[in-house]
Amino acid sequence: MAAPSCIFCKIIRQEIPSAIIKENQAAIAIKDISPRAPVHYLIIPKIHIESVAHMSDTEATVAAQMLILARDIAADAGIVGFNLITNNGASAGQSVMHMHVHFLAGKDIYEHGLSL
Ligand code: 5GP
Ligand code: ZN
Repeated sequence: MAAPSCIFCKIIRQEIPSAIIKENQAAIAIKDISPRAPVHYLIIPKIHIESVAHMSDTEATVAAQMLILARDIAADAGIVGFNLITNNGASAGQSVMHMHVHFLAGKDIYEHGLSL
């Protein structure tokens, strides 16, 4: 179900312009408006899901399509190393309450001591 006031739903409905990189049946990838890496895309499901925590078992097929889209974007661009980050909940840095994955490349996100 689309959410009328959700900024990412508006982008998907093309009511707000965005730089579309690639899409598949379930997800769209756009350039982040405020890039924090040389390559910074957002992979966004076409249906409104608030966050991973709100995703139903059925909607998990959408998550698979999001990863497939990330794989295909990397393959298209010859990107070998990339990071996929999903902020889940305001306390974890999520600012747009429509689930998305940050696709980051060309930056060492571990340079300041973060280790996973
Ligand atoms: P979050 O903080 O929720 O994990 O990530 C939200 C991301 O959406 C941020 O990186 C922010 O720069 C990006 N963003 C917010 N509004 C827009 C917009 O209107 N267009 C695009 N392309 N990105 C947006
Ligand atoms: Zn939405």
